[in-house]
Amino acid sequence: MDVPAGIRRVAVLGATGSIGTSALDVVARHPQRLRATVLAAGSRVEALLALCRTHRPLHAVIGDEALYPALRDGLRDAGLDTRAHAGDAALEALVAGPDCDIVVAAIVGAAGLPSTLAAARAGKRLLLANKESLVLAGELLVEAARAAGAMVVPIDSEHNAIFQCLHGRCLEGPGAGDGGVARIVLTASGGPFRGRARHSLAGVTPAQAVAHPKWSMGPKISVDSATLMNKGLEVIEAHHLFGLPGERIGVLVHPQSLVHSLVEFIDGSTIAQLGLPDMRTALAVGLGWPERIASGVGGLDLLAHGRLDFEAPDLDAFPCLRLAYAALAAGGTAPAVLNAANEIAVSSFLQGRIAFLSIPALVADCLDALPAQPAASLDALLAADAAARALATARIASDRYA
Ligand code: NAD
Ligand code: MG
Repeated sequence: MDVPAGIRRVAVLGATGSIGTSALDVVARHPQRLRATVLAAGSRVEALLALCRTHRPLHAVIGDEALYPALRDGLRDAGLDTRAHAGDAALEALVAGPDCDIVVAAIVGAAGLPSTLAAARAGKRLLLANKESLVLAGELLVEAARAAGAMVVPIDSEHNAIFQCLHGRCLEGPGAGDGGVARIVLTASGGPFRGRARHSLAGVTPAQAVAHPKWSMGPKISVDSATLMNKGLEVIEAHHLFGLPGERIGVLVHPQSLVHSLVEFIDGSTIAQLGLPDMRTALAVGLGWPERIASGVGGLDLLAHGRLDFEAPDLDAFPCLRLAYAALAAGGTAPAVLNAANEIAVSSFLQGRIAFLSIPALVADCLDALPAQPAASLDALLAADAAARALATARIASDRYA
């Protein structure tokens, strides 16, 4: 099953998820240019096997090592010569190895950090959807990518928009006087609870929180969009990708989700990127860059949409955004604590164990209890991540956030 020369070989990590599925959709549209050679998922073996039957990759990796026999036997029974692997170490080796040129990092949460780092260190083109790895270890990840010459294309609609507005400049840090960027403005849909007062959010359910009005996404990021933590994580993500301090990264609520973000230059120009809310556009930008390739997404008919609205975010109803700006300003281990506490809080909310408003309360509590320390090494960041997870888990078990 050799891949012909000239075809770019793509590893899709988180292949069974929302971004992974969209990435494979775009790859399959370009058989003369792209081929999925590595597919990785966490625990959904049957879904991974179905993808292997369609895309016939060289390698399939299941995160949960106990599921290795099911993957191996399923591939054999399907008559595929795709090789089965399991666990983080196998995934890191494949991502760094010779069977992929492009890595779509679309595992959800801090679990995506090791493989994302491995791709950056190996100098692969990194299509980075896993924003949590940038929030947790942004300096280290950016440094690793720079040192290895890895091109990073953000796969977050806002950051991909800015990447396009800056003609592919990323990780260079536009900075003052360099590129003429005054500030960037991330747009936010506002999520399903836009316009609601804080007190009215006390009883909202997981089903209501994941029902995003504009984007179809995995459950964790959907809850993050409902709390506006997603935008907070994106502010930190933008800081690392584009080298700007928090004061020069603005947030504007734009309920139609057609303007994906804006860059304001020192001469008064503002350049924005627009398009339908479908992540295949961002993925096609990353897969084809510097060329434009078809994504399956139609053009934008502004007459049909009629209007574009903008409003300021409500930080009283959605304090997670304020917490993220504060964590960015505090620096060191603070963003790692913010991210880890949020992952535990969101998971508990989705399980019906804590209320919606307990998510920001728990994150604030963890940030207070674990003040920012210098974050000189990956070990220091992983220790902060572990401490925040342990603290958040203990606080939830104490029924303080029931
Ligand atoms: P999802 O829940 O739909 O998919 C997550 C994927 O990660 C699944 O394939 C799952 O099997 C895999 N996974 C989970 N834990 C794993 C582990 N330990 N090892 C290996 N694989 C594991 O999530 P999603 O919405 O596709 O989001 C993925 C990432 O992309 C997140 O970081 C999210 O913030 C980011 N993102 C998503 C969107 C979107 O539109 N969905 C937009 C911007 C950014
Ligand atoms: Mg986004």
